[in-house]
Amino acid sequence: MAESMKNYHDSLKEALEDSFLRKTLDTFAVQYKVNRANIFADMNATELINEIADHKDKAMLKLDELYQQFVEQASKKGLHIHRASTAQEANDIICNIAKENNVKKIIKSKSMTAEETHVNHALEANGFEVVETDLGEWIIQLRHEGPTHMVMPAIHLSRYQVADTFSEATKQDQDSDIGKLVKVARYELRAHFADADMGISGANFAIADSGTIGICTNEGNGRLTTTLPRVHVAICGIDKIVPNIEDALRIIQVLPRNATAQAITTYVSWISGSSNCEINSDKRKIFHLVFLDNGRTSLLKDPKCGQALRCVRCGACANVCPVYRLVGGHKMGYVYIGAIGLILTYFFHGHDRAKNLIQNCINCHACKDICAAGIDLPGIIQEIRARLVEEEGSPISSTLLAKVMTNRKLFHTLLKFGKFAQKPMTSGKFVRHLPTIFAGDQSFRSLPAIASESFRDRFAKLNASAQGTPKVGIFAGCAQDFVYPEQLESAVKILQAKGAGVAFPYEQSCCGLPLQMMGEREAAKKTAKANVDAFSNSNVDYIVTLCASCASHMKDHYTELTGDDPSYKDKTAKYLSKLIDFSSLAKNVLKVTEDDFINRGAKVAYHSPCHLCRGLGVTKEPRELIGLAGEYVPTAEEDVCCGFGGTYTMKFPEISSTVLALKLKNVEEGSKDGIKPELLVTDCPGCIMQLRGGEHKHGDKVKVQHISEFLGHNLKSK
Ligand code: SF4
Ligand code: SF4
Repeated sequence: MAESMKNYHDSLKEALEDSFLRKTLDTFAVQYKVNRANIFADMNATELINEIADHKDKAMLKLDELYQQFVEQASKKGLHIHRASTAQEANDIICNIAKENNVKKIIKSKSMTAEETHVNHALEANGFEVVETDLGEWIIQLRHEGPTHMVMPAIHLSRYQVADTFSEATKQDQDSDIGKLVKVARYELRAHFADADMGISGANFAIADSGTIGICTNEGNGRLTTTLPRVHVAICGIDKIVPNIEDALRIIQVLPRNATAQAITTYVSWISGSSNCEINSDKRKIFHLVFLDNGRTSLLKDPKCGQALRCVRCGACANVCPVYRLVGGHKMGYVYIGAIGLILTYFFHGHDRAKNLIQNCINCHACKDICAAGIDLPGIIQEIRARLVEEEGSPISSTLLAKVMTNRKLFHTLLKFGKFAQKPMTSGKFVRHLPTIFAGDQSFRSLPAIASESFRDRFAKLNASAQGTPKVGIFAGCAQDFVYPEQLESAVKILQAKGAGVAFPYEQSCCGLPLQMMGEREAAKKTAKANVDAFSNSNVDYIVTLCASCASHMKDHYTELTGDDPSYKDKTAKYLSKLIDFSSLAKNVLKVTEDDFINRGAKVAYHSPCHLCRGLGVTKEPRELIGLAGEYVPTAEEDVCCGFGGTYTMKFPEISSTVLALKLKNVEEGSKDGIKPELLVTDCPGCIMQLRGGEHKHGDKVKVQHISEFLGHNLKSK
């Protein structure tokens, strides 16, 4: 039965209160990035990842052919091959193999595919004894838990918890010293290796042209499991078939580096057919391979989500995920964990299990940026949200928002009305108190008041000239048009100072990202078309946005969103070719220099918005701009999300507030050299809303500005 959203929130709060989990995952998240950067230092990781993506896509296109080739080659070497359409079928096959061979005890090495089918439960229900032999897997088996990470299944447990678990299992008090705990596991498991009749392993690769399987492990138990017992059963997703050893070796260059920042796993084993086995009557090991489909071939045909089958299970999408970092794998996946876990839960374990989980993504793109197979994980997560909305219908709040946002005049009228309605509740630039239905959840940061006059109402009064080179059209976005118009005014000031012409097409509307995030696909299409139309006659050289999220959404989705109407093909392409973020425009097109600014020596930290640094790949320009008008102070984890994520902050305030607290702590601590910033600059109004609101609640230790405000404030008057 599906878990209710309320229960899901309760379980998230429980995880957030687990101080050991928080500390462990926090330390791991920070150290992992440093170690990964070091291990990839002399390699072109991007090129390798692109090659893996390309080769995996090609392999998936000829999967049937490769499967036949594997069967032909492996059968010649004594391997018995099975193909299971479902998890249940795979478990039945494995139980039958055990029965046919009079098996009593089964040892297992680590396999996520076996976790996917819950094979242990099936075997135990049929009377077999099953013992996990990977240290982490053994620990969680003793505790009757699932893994919380695909590579490090027991990362959520302290040595004290493990000592308690081992004490209970061995009926003796065990010391919590890690070395001693490992010795306990070794001693206890040794007997099981010796008398097991069957070993179950996973497989990282099934190599078609030789009928070989490949297994990467860090513990010797993998080899003991596949060699000691008289029967070996490997279980492997059908997506693990690769044409040849070269493809497997390419993946091996990235997989351990991405997973645990190791150059290579301690063991890489290649098993090609049945080996000698003195106990069996024919002196050969009984060797079976079960290929699991369980939704993979239908996922393969899915044009938008099929690329998820490229996954090599490195687990890195969890390692960098700000949500995983706070709540761990039990709350961010069902069997598979992290971004790919959200996706595979939907495809392998049912829509009901996925529907709450899939909402718990901030859309920060950190997973996409690091994925060993170049999968557009946030794009697939958004696609699944849209499908769930289509399958189950929209919540009323989402339908209403979609109706309002696709009617530009109504939307803008409501915002203007909101400006008056908020008056009794505002104080200065912030909402002083919120209606109680919001206050409890959103009180971790002050919310901004709607501006007394929107940018669209102020623009004519700015007397900005449309004459000049280049001619720049302003895409305002809702937040800056109605909440932070001063950021756009600052941009106009800089544009005019550098001789650019400025235009503001009034028919423009919201970029549509909030609608996309809520899965309101039709409404997102309407707003995309409205914006393309608004700029189509404006004759501008550039369309600048000061919102990284608007820019990234438009770049990533407008072609598809307008693609159902052929008349938009050229218009949209032209629109996107002109689209540019403010920092790139200022630095690379307007070519501002330090002569344009008064440098007051302000010490300035920078928050790198997810959609700017990862969405658009803009990283150096904002930092260089800061250096032109102040002193840039590097702080820790500048490119880690601030926790805003548009509608995410409303849906998951417990996570959003904790991510924000971490960000502010890093900023307030200052640089490694102990320099404390007085200003925090960023270039996305959503981040400003989160950071400025958080700082306001936190005593305004650091002032938060948009980069356009910072530069505008320091612009020399001519
Ligand atoms: S986009 Fe960010 S929050 Fe969402 S799954 Fe990926 S890393 Fe996690
Ligand atoms: S989706 Fe990418 S990053 Fe995540 S486990 Fe798979 S290959 Fe690794």
